[in-house]
Amino acid sequence: MSSLVALPVTANLPYQHTDDVFIEGDWSPATGTGRTLVTNPATQEVWGSVPQASVADLDRAVAAARRAFTGAGHANGWRDLTPTERAGFLLRLADEVEKRAEAISHTNTWENGSPVAESSRAAGNAASIFRYFASLAGLLETPDIRPFPDGSGETVVRQDPIGVCALIAPWNFPINLVVAKLAPALMAGCTVVIKPASPTPLSVRLIIDAARAAGIPAGVINLVTGPGSFGDALVKHPGIDKVAFTGSTPVGRTIAGACGQLLRPVTLELGGKSSALVLPDVDLDALSQVLIRTCMRNTGQTCYISTRILAPAQRYDELVDMVTATIAAAKQGDPMQPDTVFGPAATRAQEQTVREYIRSGVAEGARATTGGDVSSGFDRGFFVKPTVFADVTPGMRIAREEIFGPVLSILRYSSLDEGIELANNTAFGLGGTIFSGDPERAFRIAGRLDTGSVGLGFFASNHAAPFAGRHDSGLGAEFGPEGLKAYLAPQSVHRRIR
Ligand code: NDP
Repeated sequence: MSSLVALPVTANLPYQHTDDVFIEGDWSPATGTGRTLVTNPATQEVWGSVPQASVADLDRAVAAARRAFTGAGHANGWRDLTPTERAGFLLRLADEVEKRAEAISHTNTWENGSPVAESSRAAGNAASIFRYFASLAGLLETPDIRPFPDGSGETVVRQDPIGVCALIAPWNFPINLVVAKLAPALMAGCTVVIKPASPTPLSVRLIIDAARAAGIPAGVINLVTGPGSFGDALVKHPGIDKVAFTGSTPVGRTIAGACGQLLRPVTLELGGKSSALVLPDVDLDALSQVLIRTCMRNTGQTCYISTRILAPAQRYDELVDMVTATIAAAKQGDPMQPDTVFGPAATRAQEQTVREYIRSGVAEGARATTGGDVSSGFDRGFFVKPTVFADVTPGMRIAREEIFGPVLSILRYSSLDEGIELANNTAFGLGGTIFSGDPERAFRIAGRLDTGSVGLGFFASNHAAPFAGRHDSGLGAEFGPEGLKAYLAPQSVHRRIR
């Protein structure tokens, strides 16, 4: 048994136990009664806690966001600043986030067990997202004038910020999945109330500190903490104009139902079960270099990763051997060590879910070539041994359902059409990759995949391009001008041309 020794980094974690929520530019004690404990999933130590805010706290946060939005009649609201002025704030915020990179990374890793090699990218990535949306100021300032088809007049299409937005995030990337919403919302002129996931309520506080240091006016960003039922109250709050959510498909459906009833705009980034379509001309060495980042990033807890590998029959055994050897050789252990590739599952519940999927794979006849339903080899922590299943068939649960852990399924196909059909044979439509020695052919095949994003030979999301799930993977888009538009409401002003 390996044993993980907790490194004495808690001294570097600015937020641990706190009573506060952030409303109207200040930290203040929440008035709710319960608390949420924060556990290091590598050691099972409880090292932090946050309050569960009350409905009164929620009302205060939403009211503060409304005042900041409109200016409450006595000053310019956030919506009234020019896009260039708001971009200035975003650029300062990006700089302030970067100054806090180490604390963000360590807090993130202590909350959810993301290997520090992963969490150390969070601040830089967040800063880059803020800078990208700041760069869209010009787009908002460019007049959009459209003549009437009969030439009798013209329409000026204005873009108004939607208003007060609820931002609800999951635990797997607690910084970036907030910032992917916060940056376009702020750029558009919206104000926000953020609810982080219960396992990861602390790292996002460093974004709040950065926003304060950047001089973002009081009330523009508010942060409240509470369980899923509190998220539900936030979604349905009468003062909310739009909801942006990343999380599981079942919760996304519930939120979509509530927003449907309220006719409230909603963006949903949900789960995935994406495929790596490997063509017979693949370069296996090149694939092995990107395998973990593409198919098992963040210990398999990434929504868009290609967790189903579709292997051509003629290269099947070679591919299974390469994938097995690559995964088996990757280091699992203390996520604070820079060379750790696989950390623990983020929570006890997630560990149990992943183990249950591994058992179902074995029971349904898949062949574990590494890992499987075995001891993690650690005497504590929510570790699950990274597992590769070969001989997976399309009807198995491990082929169809999102596992959200370090489990890969390899399916065999015989013709390209069959491979494409397998890739599309899922309820989801989020990511996907194609591995081929012929980039032009891979590009053409991408158009036959029914999914929002496809990577050719690798996968990375690009802040300048839409990230949009299809089917059970969500509604709407984040990133790119499309992501900004999700926080804007058009107004057409018609006028006669003299
Ligand atoms: P959940 O859907 O359980 O929770 C996400 C967030 O919603 C949390 O803040 C949660 O709060 C909150 N919440 C729970 N119930 C409700 C409700 N009824 N109304 C409003 N808010 C609610 O997802 P997880 O946190 O477990 O995250 C993992 C899931 O997220 C995976 O399925 C993954 O695929 C998906 N995901 C999708 C991504 C994408 O971009 N498409 C990216 C990353 C993850 P609390 O934590 O307090 O319960």
